[in-house]
Amino acid sequence: MRDPVYYSGSAKFFDTHAHIYDRKFDANNVTTEDILQRCRASGVTSVLIPADSEETSRIALDMANKYDGFAEVSLYASVGVHPHEAKTYTEDTEKYLRSVLEARRTQKVTALGEIGLDYYYDLSERSVQRDVFEKQLELAYEYDVPVILHERDATGDCLDILRRFYKAGRMRSLPGVCHCCSCSLEASQELVKMGFYIGFDGPVTFKNNKKTPEVALNTPWDRIVIETDSPYLTPEPNRGLINEPCHVAYVCAKIAEIKGVTIDEAAQITYDNGKKLYGVD
Ligand SMILES: [Zn+2]
Repeated sequence: MRDPVYYSGSAKFFDTHAHIYDRKFDANNVTTEDILQRCRASGVTSVLIPADSEETSRIALDMANKYDGFAEVSLYASVGVHPHEAKTYTEDTEKYLRSVLEARRTQKVTALGEIGLDYYYDLSERSVQRDVFEKQLELAYEYDVPVILHERDATGDCLDILRRFYKAGRMRSLPGVCHCCSCSLEASQELVKMGFYIGFDGPVTFKNNKKTPEVALNTPWDRIVIETDSPYLTPEPNRGLINEPCHVAYVCAKIAEIKGVTIDEAAQITYDNGKKLYGVD
């Protein structure tokens, strides 16, 4: 197993998806300060903290405000309700999301998510998931923010809904990112056509995964972002360790290998893509 701080070159990385507030860090005696120090030591200068419920939206936003700049790491947050939590979405939730999105220029909120459909776990009824997904897509259009899509075993319904928004002209030209993309090559290409970025993380490095490297190979460079989904999905060769943003270099190295470029080139491109996707500099 290699050291979690793997990269010592001069490139900068943007981990576009890390739940650094997750309780698993506390349980492993890893503090936010530790995480951010290790970011600095491994070239990770920007991290987006995604939410999955109203509760974690508040936490992600507080954390981004409190720790932004610590160890010279820029932090951003998203707010939104994950399909697992769709059953908790109420009028009050929507009021909260609207109030944050309304004030986003003075906050650290750069996206709406994770939103989408998850028919693998089915933790909320499917009709409720679809309804809450559509409500939040509407909000994203209204407030002109990118979305962070979570889709698992629901590609057909997810694409149907997105196509409808796309055809109705109720989607931004940069609509968001398909986070931890696990869909087919065909589906990923349709998402790219609609303007989506494709997010790659640990699974692209897993030895038994043939599909995701194929998707990466065929995704245009200007649509690729890298992420860790910390604390889960630790990339090879550190599987078994808790995942942290400092591992994003392993994901980047794998993308570089697939595309036949250096890790520094891949870091630069994905860093610029992340900044463009979330409209930050
Ligand atoms: Zn996530």
